[in-house]
Amino acid sequence: MKAAVISDVHSNLEALNVVIKDIKKRRIKKILCLGDLVGYGADPNKCVELCLQESDKTVAGNHDWAALGRTDPGTFNPVAAEAIEWTKKQLRSDNMKRLKALQLTESVGDVFLVHASPQTPEIWHYLFRLEDFKKHFKFFQQQVCFIGHSHIPGAAFQDANGYTDFIRDNPFPLIDGRRYIVNAGSVGQPRDLDPRACYTIYDGNAKSIEFIRLDYNVPRAQQKVLDAGLPEALAERLLVGR
Ligand code: ZN
Repeated sequence: MKAAVISDVHSNLEALNVVIKDIKKRRIKKILCLGDLVGYGADPNKCVELCLQESDKTVAGNHDWAALGRTDPGTFNPVAAEAIEWTKKQLRSDNMKRLKALQLTESVGDVFLVHASPQTPEIWHYLFRLEDFKKHFKFFQQQVCFIGHSHIPGAAFQDANGYTDFIRDNPFPLIDGRRYIVNAGSVGQPRDLDPRACYTIYDGNAKSIEFIRLDYNVPRAQQKVLDAGLPEALAERLLVGR
């Protein structure tokens, strides 16, 4: 299987369009989506429609659940919570229904999909440090688990002896006997100080993973956020990627 893995679109249609165009240009037929289709950005309806129309499998993220009232936005920072309240008012009922149908985890071939963490998908734990990654390998069976949530692309592997380390190469090979947790990065709100849209290519045949970065029209996405009356900070952060 070869697939593009997208995550954390966050209602950023400008970034999503550029990513989907790039995936099609590379003739990659399968798209897997790790959730957080909405929240923060100005195009929730169009992003839900486009994501679900283009992707073969999509799991739910914490912002999707918050928009459905399943996760308390009281756990969000004030700016994120304000964006969720705005998003709730914008989302049409057909798109609410589409979000409601999403599962927290999915298995596709030798790949496991979850928005936040394999151990407790509905608690939305962040995986940042190596010790965080290390704990989660026993909670999925496949060779590769894709996650999103932190908006920081990266990967860690674990070998048969339990030795775990981060991978710093891009692209990098999938080695037999090793298992991987890969953060696919964020399409619509990168937080690794690189404002370009991010997605990941999984090639199960060539046994490789590659992170892709793409320029998109940031000023246009920013203007839409401001025109929608969303917090200014949400427009500003798109330019710096944090
Ligand atoms: Zn997110």
